[in-house]
Amino acid sequence: MELLKQIRWQDILDIVFVAIIFYRLLLIVKGTKAAQMLIGLGLLLLASLLSEHLELYTVNWIIQSFWAQIVIVLIILFQPEIRRALAHIGEARFLTAFTSAEELKSLDEIVKAAVALANRKMGALIVIERETSLKDFVEMGTLLDAKVSKDILLSIFHTTSPIHDGAVVIRGNRIVAAGCFLPIALSSEVSKALGTRHRAGIGLTEETDAIAIIVSEETGAISMATAGKLETAIDMESLRIRLTNIFTTAERRKVPRKSPGFKESL
Ligand code: ATP
Ligand code: MG
Repeated sequence: MELLKQIRWQDILDIVFVAIIFYRLLLIVKGTKAAQMLIGLGLLLLASLLSEHLELYTVNWIIQSFWAQIVIVLIILFQPEIRRALAHIGEARFLTAFTSAEELKSLDEIVKAAVALANRKMGALIVIERETSLKDFVEMGTLLDAKVSKDILLSIFHTTSPIHDGAVVIRGNRIVAAGCFLPIALSSEVSKALGTRHRAGIGLTEETDAIAIIVSEETGAISMATAGKLETAIDMESLRIRLTNIFTTAERRKVPRKSPGFKESL
């Protein structure tokens, strides 16, 4: 009772904040390499306490020296994640919450283009920017500023076009660049059967919140990558529904939901 009386409202707020932060962190690390790391660190902490209790001085000394370096170890191990998180904080654009009619029309053109490309078995990689800026990738490609249209997308990805290699980047209703080089997903979780085009789509969406639509030159299948996951064999209607869901206001900030009927190929 005495203890309860000493609790100030700030302490409760403090506890709630810490709980939220830990919960969020656990959600982020769940199922990733960070989760395994956390288990490892937990075991190490246990070993450290145990060695102290049992007075195993040398073991304890080694573990203590390791703890002293842990921040550097974590920074090195999680360098890509930290970079991504900082980029997200720095570049969130708060004024883009509304999807204009123009943008919805451009999504429709993208869907039509993907289907037309798939029917012709023309390989393509179309990336749609969301909150995270794709400036770095755009700069590496050929700059364009064209209204999104099926015909332009078809011309870009035609094999005779000098800019058919690489990705097209779309921002709002504009095609901002073509021939962009994207980071390739190196993770061992990605199916070995996937070629570089699909891996580039996965790689970019692992690092940013962009959406990548991939048309396979080999099979003519349309795939879509979001948040580092690839959904394959998407038909026209599903692609349209999926994109509209992601880009309409209510869905915009959330992690894209999966509609039924998609196969995951990871
Ligand atoms: P497909 O099913 O179309 O054959 P794939 O996943 O098997 O696709 P590849 O056959 O390796 O992939 O496709 C190569 C093409 O993918 C390249 O010609 C290039 O246009 C594109 N590509 C490869 N790597 C990248 C990258 N890092 N960034 C952007 N585009 C890339
Ligand atoms: Mg291939």
